[in-house]
Formats: sequence, structure tokens, C-alpha cells
Amino acid sequence: MVRNISLGDVQRRKLIPMRPETAAIHAFRTRSQETGAVAVPIQLSTTFERQPDGGYLGGTDYSRGDNPVRHILEDVLGELEGGDRGIAFASGMAAAQAILQALKPGDHVLLPDQFYYAVRNLAKQVYKDWGLSFDIVNMADLEAVKKAVRPETKLLWSETPSNPQLKILDLQALAGIAHNAGALLVCDNTFATPILQNPLKHGVDIVLHATTKYIGGHSDSMGGVLIPLKNHPLTPKLRSIQKLGGGVLSPFDAWLALRGLETLPARIRTHCDNAEIVANWLASRPEIERVAYPGLETHPNHEVAKAQMSRFGGMLAFLVRGGEPEARRVANRCKIIIQATSLGGTHSLIEHRASIEGPESTTPKNLLRLSVGLEHPLDLIEDLAQALGPD
Ligand SMILES: *Cc1c(COP(=O)(O)O)cnc(C)c1O
Repeated sequence: MVRNISLGDVQRRKLIPMRPETAAIHAFRTRSQETGAVAVPIQLSTTFERQPDGGYLGGTDYSRGDNPVRHILEDVLGELEGGDRGIAFASGMAAAQAILQALKPGDHVLLPDQFYYAVRNLAKQVYKDWGLSFDIVNMADLEAVKKAVRPETKLLWSETPSNPQLKILDLQALAGIAHNAGALLVCDNTFATPILQNPLKHGVDIVLHATTKYIGGHSDSMGGVLIPLKNHPLTPKLRSIQKLGGGVLSPFDAWLALRGLETLPARIRTHCDNAEIVANWLASRPEIERVAYPGLETHPNHEVAKAQMSRFGGMLAFLVRGGEPEARRVANRCKIIIQATSLGGTHSLIEHRASIEGPESTTPKNLLRLSVGLEHPLDLIEDLAQALGPD
């Protein structure tokens, strides 16, 4: 089936149904009516001419409310997750913040004990003052979650696989607990991407992605997106926060995220291949105390990961024998792998996570987080082998 969606002089063709590999490339296929240009254009105009009948050629009047290239990104990410059209923000954190802003004073939120540290800091440093209350619970312990739920609990926040220790949560079970309590379940799906895991299919209400990471994929664009279930009651409020709050994704960043999306399925395949090889190699090394990678059978939630994800992703963490000084020495000695924060780009990145997360971090001091890139896996292994060796 071919459906044409008009975006001014650009026709967007929607071909349904498609597998994710095809959808990532063709779901936003556009043709300029003037030039036939194949690539998606960036539409930088902030304002759009009104027609005599009061309408607008592309359906949008002002770029904060809607922008053609942002609209396409929101549409395609919504399709890939099996949800409603996405709601795109200027960063992953702006998307996370929109969810907290959609709550009311007096609402209670359960946060996981391991997740992206900035969301925890946002809750504590900003949203406590707005009358929200928070408790932290081990979301892998379902009995503990049930006990932590209160009558005023409105939201459970999940992130799986989690940053930085690759903890896996059972989304179906958490959704059951949340919905029994009349609360929503949010899932930060940044590590898995829509290619490896679709949380909405496991009962989650709203999915979050930092497009800054795998979706952009080249460490050169920031963005975040929320994808709610179709016809979710919170969606109008979230769209209002986007449009009226104004923390919107810029047209250029939307364009970069869309360009990244075309190669996402192919990149993810290589990220997974490489991470599996590197994780198995690290697990065989005497210098390493433990490797956290959901694809290893030794991972405590390997079975849940197998049921919930199609593969296990490009992120791993490992604990180096010899404590923090040894872990930092190894990170300092990598030559190909770059010592930097962030993840999901073409190049491998290594990071001593506890010192980035600050004094309240509960991350083990000898943990290194590795975003396995698209290099040849043997070059990565050789780099790690020399870094683990003597000075
Ligand atoms: C990076 C990240 C975020 C925040 O995204 P920004 O674009 O940096 O604001 C949120 N969640 C996870 C899991 C992340 O890795």
C-alpha cells in the first residue's frame, strides 16, 4: 500500500507493511515536487504562509509547533516502536523532563536503583521542589517493587538494559504492577534502540530515546523523543509541553537523526557482533573480575533479556581487578578506543563511570563502561590487551 503525505513541496510516501530494516530507509522516502530530490530536505523556515482559506500548504504554521523534518522523524520512530507519532525534544533529558512535568504535585514516582544518573539528579534537584516525591527501588526485585507502590504512585521509571551496569528489567511484569496500581510505566530504550526491543509491546506506556546515542549514531547531534502508546491519555499533555514549553528538536538535529536512522539496523547488527566478541574475550581474561553484558549466559537476567530483546546491543561494562587506580590506568592506555563519555557512535568509547557520575554514584569504582563501535573487533581486542598489560 502506498500512502502519500503532503509536506508542502515534499511528498512523503508511506509503504506498509515493511520490516524495520526497510522501514528505516523507506518509511520517510520523500520526493520534492519541484526537483525530484531523493534525500529528505532540511526545512529551516520558522514560519509558513497562510492560505486564503486560512489553512497551510504543509499543515504547519510555525516551527515550534511542528516542523516538516521533525514531523517525519516523529512519524518514523513512532512506527518503528509500534506506537503513536513520537514527540521530539532538544535532548534526551528534555524528553525525560517532559514526563515529570506532565505529573501533578503530590504524585509519587518509583525510580530504579540503576539508570541514567542525570534523570535521578533531575528528579532530586528540580522536581522534589515541584511537589513530586520519589523512591528508589531495585526494579529487578518484583516483590520490592510491589511493596514500594503507594496509592499516590503515578509513574514507574524503567531503563533496560540500564546505564552503566547493563541490568535487565522484566517489562511485562513491571507493567502489570504499574497498571494494577493505576500508574504508568515509562521505559528508557536508548541502549536497545527500536531495532532490538519494542517496550510498548511488553505493556510499557511511554518509550524514551536519547537520539543523541544510537539513532543519531555519529556523536554529532543531540535529541530526545517520547513515543507513547496509540491514543494514550497522557499524549495531549506531552505534546503541549513540547509545543508550549518549546524545548523542541531543531530541524538540523532532526535531519541528522533521520539520516542516522537509515543505517541504524545495519549499524546495530555490527555493534552487536562486535560487543559479543569483545564481551567473550574480556570474560576470558584474568585481569577482569566480571563482565556485564546481557548476551553472556553468566548475566543474572540473561533469560529475561533473551525473551525481551532480539539481540543484546553494543554496550558492556567490566570490573577491573586492582580497583579504581587500575581501571583508570587501563582507560588511559587505550589507543584506538577513545576515553570519553556518551555512547552509540561509530567509534568505541571507554569511560570510568563512577568519576563521571559524581560523589553520589553507586557504580563500582573499578567499573569501565565500553560503547563498542564499528571498528574491526580484533583491533578492539588488541587495543584492550595492550591497555591491560604492563606500562
Ligand atoms: C544519554 C542518555 C540520556 C540523556 O540524553 P541526552 O541527549 O544526553 O540529554 C538518557 N538516557 C540514557 C540511557 C542515555 O544514555
